[in-house]
Amino acid sequence: MNGKIYLDNAATTEMHPDVLEAMLPYFKAQYGNPSSIHGMAKYAREARERARASVAELINAEPKEIYFTSGGTESDNWALKSVAFGNRSKGNHIIVSKIEHHAVMNTCEFLEKNGFEITYIDVDEFGIVDPDDVRKAIRPETTLISVMYANNEIGTIEPISEIGKIAREHGILFHTDAVQAFGHVHIDVKRENIDLLSASAHKLYGPKGAGALYVREGVKLEPLMHGGAQERGTRAGTENVPGIVGMGKAAEIAKRDMDERIAKETELRDHMICRILEEVPFTKLNGHSTRRLSGNVNIAFSFIEGESALMLLNHKGVFVSTGSACASGSLDPSHVLLAIGLKHETAHGSIRFTLSYKTTRGEVDEAVDAVKEAVGRLREMSPLYADHLKIGTNKTEV
Ligand SMILES: *Cc1c(COP(=O)(O)O)cnc(C)c1O
Repeated sequence: MNGKIYLDNAATTEMHPDVLEAMLPYFKAQYGNPSSIHGMAKYAREARERARASVAELINAEPKEIYFTSGGTESDNWALKSVAFGNRSKGNHIIVSKIEHHAVMNTCEFLEKNGFEITYIDVDEFGIVDPDDVRKAIRPETTLISVMYANNEIGTIEPISEIGKIAREHGILFHTDAVQAFGHVHIDVKRENIDLLSASAHKLYGPKGAGALYVREGVKLEPLMHGGAQERGTRAGTENVPGIVGMGKAAEIAKRDMDERIAKETELRDHMICRILEEVPFTKLNGHSTRRLSGNVNIAFSFIEGESALMLLNHKGVFVSTGSACASGSLDPSHVLLAIGLKHETAHGSIRFTLSYKTTRGEVDEAVDAVKEAVGRLREMSPLYADHLKIGTNKTEV
């Protein structure tokens, strides 16, 4: 095997060459501060506004509804904290799903410490939120519902328009963490009744440190960052102009190529899932088989430690992730895999492979071969596996 096979695109992506190209002038000749009065500011302002239009267009929003931030984490923090504190006189109750990203989960924990009550909605075995459960959790004091558009670990796409409809009917604000979905799935904030949406550039072949929050016109948000009058006085700090330009370019390319990318990735995804499930015994797909992101493959391998498999694959130049990148470094199994009902050991034996628009069939096949070998080696060393074979059951229970 030569070179590397990067299958960790849900953690971050390689920048698209056209994105880098579009950004470069704003590091060099066009370094102006958009807030200045002179001519240098004009180009930066114009570039920022073109990017705003591209981001808006990708989700059917208006440019004035897009606010640039430093990424998905800031957008999630801003949406949750500002709605919570800003509506405190109306109520202190927030509804979220049990499988949100840590950017939402840990913000909720902070809000709980500050007197807010959070209801964490269960998901089914595929990671799908039942909109009826959301409806039932609504109280007179509920001010916000936040359910992610698509999950970063298992790729499950949530029933966003149904949840949006319920929120709108009850006059409750609806936020969605769409970091994994932005530019990867067709999003229409108007049709889906979304009030607030978080997006990040680096999950879409754009730069790290650039993101956006969509805020529906008419929704008033207190700033998270106080200072200058940037972003119409709602998000202080000199703009990351190159980052914003990169995000705009990434959005523009995504708009143009989305259908083609989805078709290509879906085919590779399903090929990879089929091969692993057929060729490696005692495996199970985590998440839903069709309601999932086109680039997401997440498999539970019985009788192995995902971390050990990751090391062996790493050695072969195949880069993957166990559970979520954010959970790595801790021994706690992923809250998402536990929420879909996996046992601790099965959660630990799960591996996430995430594809990009550049992933080839050859890479997928090489990766699957490497996985077969790694899993085989680890099982040979596993006393649990030996016991299992002795007992002689053929059940693929995981
Ligand atoms: C990556 C990610 C985030 C955080 O975005 P950053 O831009 O890295 O701060 C939030 N939510 C989800 C679902 C993500 O995948």
